[in-house]
Amino acid sequence: MANCNNCSAPLPPHSNICDHCGSKNDTDLKGIHQFTIHEPDSARTCPRCKISLQTIDLKVEGKFLIERCEQCLGLFFDTGELEALLKASVTHVYHIDRQKIDGLNQTSPSKDYPTTYIPCPVCGSIMNRVNFGTRSGVIIDRCPEHGMWLDGGELRHLLEWVKAGGELLSKQKNEQLKKEKARQNGKSRNIRPSMGATPSVTFDQYGSILNNQAPDIFTILVRVMRWLAS
Ligand SMILES: [Zn+2]
Ligand SMILES: [Zn+2]
Ligand SMILES: [Zn+2]
Repeated sequence: MANCNNCSAPLPPHSNICDHCGSKNDTDLKGIHQFTIHEPDSARTCPRCKISLQTIDLKVEGKFLIERCEQCLGLFFDTGELEALLKASVTHVYHIDRQKIDGLNQTSPSKDYPTTYIPCPVCGSIMNRVNFGTRSGVIIDRCPEHGMWLDGGELRHLLEWVKAGGELLSKQKNEQLKKEKARQNGKSRNIRPSMGATPSVTFDQYGSILNNQAPDIFTILVRVMRWLAS
């Protein structure tokens, strides 16, 4: 995993703050994406630090602008941008490294921030917390209108997860679930006719239970008397 830029100690999983010297590391972009800082075209503020976000250009397949907080190193992606970046950064994943994925999923979630709901940098409404890709283990904050917020270190985790085939595995599992569901639906449809089958106990026109046996003498007597009375 990544090491601290200041003291070279290994960084704890799910955190970009060094346990050793306390310095904050840019594990998401340093050495991975070269970027330039642009003049912000909008007044978006960091949902954690409440300071203006920088607009940076990752230059992935041309111009690729996202927002970044200088202080906490969180990143904001407009709708669809994160998926596009993951797609552009990680290509040709055909192998699923289950060990690596399990390792990534087992590391405890970021302790840098308490579990709180934070506002969207664009509209200010409280964002939803979602497990990106259903099983990545990275809980991102998402505004359905404007995009996704990733805390510092989460992009690195996501990239590692995609590289290890996590997205591929997640898709396979979703397919399996769908098939399983379809199979169960088919099963219950086959059960219904047998449940509606004729019960072994039958009733004759006088309402007595016949039990598929020949009527006893009493039943015959009642029948004869009713016939006589009619
Ligand atoms: Zn350090
Ligand atoms: Zn911040
Ligand atoms: Zn929003």
